[in-house]
Amino acid sequence: MSRDAQQLFRFYQDLSHLTQRGSTIAEYVWIDGSGITLRSKAKTITKKVEKLEDIPDWNYDGSSCYQASTHNSEVIMKPIAFYPDPFREGDNIIVLTETFVWADDTFKTLVPANTNFRHFAKRIFESGDHEKPWFGIEQEYSLLETKNKFVIKPLGWPSSGFPGPQGPYYCSVGANNCYGRAIMDAHYKACLFSGVKISGTNCEVMPGQWEYQVGPCEGIEAGDMLWVSRYLLGRVAEDFGVSVSFEPKLFKDWNGAGCHTNFSTTTMRAGTGGMDYIHGLMERMSSKHREHIELYGDNTKRLTGHHETSDPTKFSYGAGNRAASVRIPTSTAADNGRGYIEDRRPASDIDPYVVGAAIIDTCILDESL
Ligand code: ADP
Ligand code: MN
Ligand code: MN
Ligand code: MN
Ligand code: MN
Repeated sequence: MSRDAQQLFRFYQDLSHLTQRGSTIAEYVWIDGSGITLRSKAKTITKKVEKLEDIPDWNYDGSSCYQASTHNSEVIMKPIAFYPDPFREGDNIIVLTETFVWADDTFKTLVPANTNFRHFAKRIFESGDHEKPWFGIEQEYSLLETKNKFVIKPLGWPSSGFPGPQGPYYCSVGANNCYGRAIMDAHYKACLFSGVKISGTNCEVMPGQWEYQVGPCEGIEAGDMLWVSRYLLGRVAEDFGVSVSFEPKLFKDWNGAGCHTNFSTTTMRAGTGGMDYIHGLMERMSSKHREHIELYGDNTKRLTGHHETSDPTKFSYGAGNRAASVRIPTSTAADNGRGYIEDRRPASDIDPYVVGAAIIDTCILDESL
């Protein structure tokens, strides 16, 4: 780019000096009919938004999001949380929404849209409230290079064939091994700006793959913040001309991508139940293994018993064991059960509302166990 073009580019990149005359731009975000992909559109609110009630319900064309038919296309968005917008800055906001459709053509009753699992999860999260469930979610993802808007290969990979075998890439430093650090860093700062509780990040085992962690968050906030963090990641990568993939297993012989879900209750954090409490939880988890696998994203190719994953047909757990369904951190085992557990089964494309609700239901609510 010439110097002038560069200056123009910067000017249009940063328009924060232009006054909005008291109006707020609200970017409404929703989960589309795929249950994985996020979409968004913007609305002007002619004042500064101070509280959730200042943000009106809105709607979008569900027939263009795999979510509704053309003749009954409206999906209604109800705001559930809002965050400072790191892209537009100022008082502008990102609005996370739950989605609903009309039950029938009397337009009197709204029912949750097909991918609004939060609506159901909310009640389970509320019922588990007395044990104050905390979640820390490790989101793994792959960056994909695009050319003329088409995805061509994972970021940094050679134009034909595969890079050298896995080994040097995890937590690596250097242009030969680490691809996409600027994207990771911009996303990290965007999350902190927005108030998303991002707790760390690292480069992963497959080149072009990364991880960040959200949490610990209490209750359903873990799901809200993970979805917002994914939205921010997609937007940052877009500005770099890169696409984000939450596909759990891109290549057979390479590490897949997960969403390890770390979990604790008041009892575990206080350590009052000792290791007996943890063993009890593992029995509960074991009895629900099959149901959990159904709810834990697309694990058909990822859970193989290889590449730091467990056998999907058998529940297993162990202290410090990265080939088990659930790992007990050695710090938790060494401190007689004071700490947390790590469910390693969830795939990178999970809905965290579904996984969180399943864990609460099994570990806190199920009285038949
Ligand atoms: P790993 O060793 O599996 O790569 P990470 O450091 O990537 O672990 O992630 C650990 C996650 O566990 C973090 O998101 C952190 O917030 C979370 N965590 C820590 N303590 C707790 C706790 N008591 N309850 C729930 N999550 C926790
Ligand atoms: Mn239109
Ligand atoms: Mn991790
Ligand atoms: Mn990881
Ligand atoms: Mn982990």
